[in-house]
Amino acid sequence: MIERKCLHCGIWNTIEDCCKSCGQPISQREIDRVEALEKRAIELEKPKDAYQLFAEKLKNHRYLFVRIIYKIGYSITLVFGVIGAFFAWMIALANG
Ligand SMILES: [Zn+2]
Repeated sequence: MIERKCLHCGIWNTIEDCCKSCGQPISQREIDRVEALEKRAIELEKPKDAYQLFAEKLKNHRYLFVRIIYKIGYSITLVFGVIGAFFAWMIALANG
């Protein structure tokens, strides 16, 4: 049987994913899971930049007209992004 010592309180655990004494994750699987959750939480709490805030304001605007403007602007940005990627690819081919 594998025993794992809890790094937080020093209690030995057997098959538990979390320490039976203090509840801290002790198995690698559980540690990975908790770290992934924390990373996602940090990602969500990141302050948004001005452009993102502006885009969100337009997206959720109470006037339909403004939301349509946002949709059009977003579509144009998307199309230019695709065209830009295409040209970058062409240039990469030409240089290769
Ligand atoms: Zn513990």
